[in-house]
Formats: sequence, C-alpha cells, structure tokens
Amino acid sequence: MSIQTDVLVIGSGAAGAVALARAKERGLNAIGVSKSIGASGYSSGAVDFYDLAPEALKLFQKLTASIGYVLTGYAVSQAGLVKQCLATQASQAYELAAGGLLGVVELSGLTCFRAAPVAHMLKSQGYEAVPITAHLGHWNTFLEFAKDFEDPELLDSCMDAIVQAIEARSVDLKHVFVPAIFGLSPPMLFLRSLQMRAGVSFSELLGLSHSIPGLRLGNLLSQGFKAGSVARFEYKAQRITQVILDHGEVIEPKSVILATGRFLSGGFGSQELLFGLPLVGEQRFKIGLACDEHQRPLGAFGELFASNLFAAGSSLGGYDPAEDGGMARAIATGYRAGDLC
Ligand SMILES: Cc1cc2nc3c(=O)[nH]c(=O)nc-3n(C[C@H](O)[C@H](O)[C@H](O)COP(=O)(O)OP(=O)(O)OC[C@H]3O[C@@H](n4cnc5c(N)ncnc54)[C@H](O)[C@@H]3O)c2cc1C
Repeated sequence: MSIQTDVLVIGSGAAGAVALARAKERGLNAIGVSKSIGASGYSSGAVDFYDLAPEALKLFQKLTASIGYVLTGYAVSQAGLVKQCLATQASQAYELAAGGLLGVVELSGLTCFRAAPVAHMLKSQGYEAVPITAHLGHWNTFLEFAKDFEDPELLDSCMDAIVQAIEARSVDLKHVFVPAIFGLSPPMLFLRSLQMRAGVSFSELLGLSHSIPGLRLGNLLSQGFKAGSVARFEYKAQRITQVILDHGEVIEPKSVILATGRFLSGGFGSQELLFGLPLVGEQRFKIGLACDEHQRPLGAFGELFASNLFAAGSSLGGYDPAEDGGMARAIATGYRAGDLC
C-alpha cells in the first residue's frame, strides 16, 4: 500500500527541516524522510552570515526554539578565532566588545581541548584573555564527556571545579568561555547556574566538527522525519509519481523536495545519486545541481527534469562556503522550496 502526500522532503538538515516546516505552515500534508544526520549535525551549530529572508530565519528560530537561536554578529570558536555569524545557539552567544578580561576554561581531564592556545589567539586579535584550568575527570573526546554530562553528579562536580578554578585566579573577569561540551540537550540551565555561582557570564565556544552544539541541532532538526533512504522512483509525464524507500515503503507525493546535502567533490561521479541528475560546477565546493528560477533541477541538456521536483540547501550548485554561510543558505533555500512546492 502506498502513502499519498502533498509533499515529500528528502533530507533532514537545515534545508529539509525548514522546507518541511514551511510546507506544513502552508497547510500542506508533508512527510520527511532522512537516512542520517547531515552536515547540519556536524557543523559548529552556528548560522554563518548570509543575506537571509527574515521570515525564513523566523521559521528556523521557531523550529529550534528549545535551543534558542539568537542574532549574534560575532562568536568565538574553539580555535580562538572570532567568526562572523548571523545567529548562534543561546549557549554560544556573547556580545564581543573590546575591554575587560576574558577567561577560557579547560578541564584538566578533557585531553582534547586546551585553553591556552584559545586565549593566545584571542590576544592576537586584540582581546585580553587568560586560560583557566578546572581540575576534573578523564575523557578523551567531547562526545565521551557530553554523554556523561547527563549525569547530575557530574554536573555538580563540574560546576564546583569551574567555580573553584575561577575563584583561585582571583582576577576580575568580564566573561568566561567554556568548551562546547555541555550535553546534547540545551545547556542553558547549567550555564545560568554557573553564572549565579561564579558571578560572571558564561558561553560556549563554537565547536569544531563533530561538535556537540552541531549534534544538538542535527538531532532537533531530524525530529518528525521518518528514518529511511530513497531507493528508487517512478517517473511519468515529466513528474515524479512514486518514491520507494529502502525498506519498501511507497510514497506518492504531489511534490518532492531534494535536500540531500553537499556533493563534496567530483569523487562521487558526475551524477546526483537519487535521481541521476547531472552535477555542475568546476570548483570542488561549488559542485551541485543546476536549477531553474523555481529551484527545480535541470537535466543533462538544460531541460526541466521534473515539474514537481525542487532542490534546496547544499544540493544546489554554485555555492561557495568560503563566501556564503552554509547553514543560512540552507535555511533560505529550504524556506523557498517549501513555498514553491
Ligand atoms: C564540519 C562542518 C562545519 C560547518 N560549520 C558551519 C558553520 O559553522 N556555520 C554555517 O553556517 N555552516 C557551516 N557548515 C555548512 C553547513 O553545515 C551546511 O551548508 C548546511 O548544514 C547544509 O544543510 P543541508 O540541509 O543542505 O544539508 P545537510 O545538513 O547535509 O542534510 C542533508 C540530509 O540529507 C540526508 N540524505 C542524504 N541522502 C539521502 C537519501 N538518499 N535518503 C534520505 N536522506 C538522505 C542526510 O542524511 C541529511 O540528513 C559546516 C559544514 C561542515 C561539514
């Protein structure tokens, strides 16, 4: 038996999640299917700067309300670099301004993160910063720590260790950065409690891949998507009529949104994997689908492939992540696909 729906969204990254939400917002019956966490879940969790329609950003903020995305401007990364952002998770937000001493906390037992290079890098960019060591634990990776962090006892000892380390420095700190390790669920409660105890504000540094804030976002976005991968499709009179999932489920959508992410290089060949669409773009990171003005992919001869297939996010060609914000572009084009389908 097949499932009939107005819209099928393939891929639960930022593009697919926003497209699904937008289609539903328009009153359409929409189903999402995704095979795993994508780049959105491996990112720093922040939305890089990009000129984005306010209604698209608003929908993304609504979708991620439990994380609390706020407009930021700049944020500090785990490498100590100050990065331009459009929005960050509330736990990553801090209004960077010159003046005042910044603290960077490390946990002695978390061997994969050291605060001194971050403080050093901040100093080289004109900020006053000191590393602070909290003595706690034995973890090799952020993920190991983040899993343990759901344990209330660890929460308490972590808070004690950080507060003690800050008090031991006896310097007047304006703000303190902590590595982005504090659990997969929103860590704001923990950071606020820390603030109350230590009398100084805290925020998470932007994580590097695989980052906990990224996974936090990826998990949230994939809620409401079925687990599955597209195995094949049926096509009639220039329309996708059926999409068949790997576990045999048949979906009959009026429209399909392809939000399956990036084609990193020519290494995948010259075709998109699900519909066999041609990939365009000469530079490695710009490779993707060519589309008409309605985000509908074009075939090998520049003709429309299917009148009811729309693409969004990193699957679109011509995008350079060094120039454009990847996540914001996914949000913008996901919103538009959800509008056009
Ligand atoms: C390490 C890293 C760090 C980054 N940091 C930032 C950052 O700090 N700020 C920023 O703005 N951007 C960042 N980016 C870029 C940004 O993450 C991406 O541009 C954006 O997340 C792309 O979103 P998307 O929805 O297009 O694709 P993705 O998030 O990749 O989602 C694609 C989805 O499609 C699914 N899928 C694929 N094939 C199938 C199939 N056959 N069947 C079903 N589902 C399928 C995948 O499982 C996945 O869920 C980063 C990217 C990476 C890799």
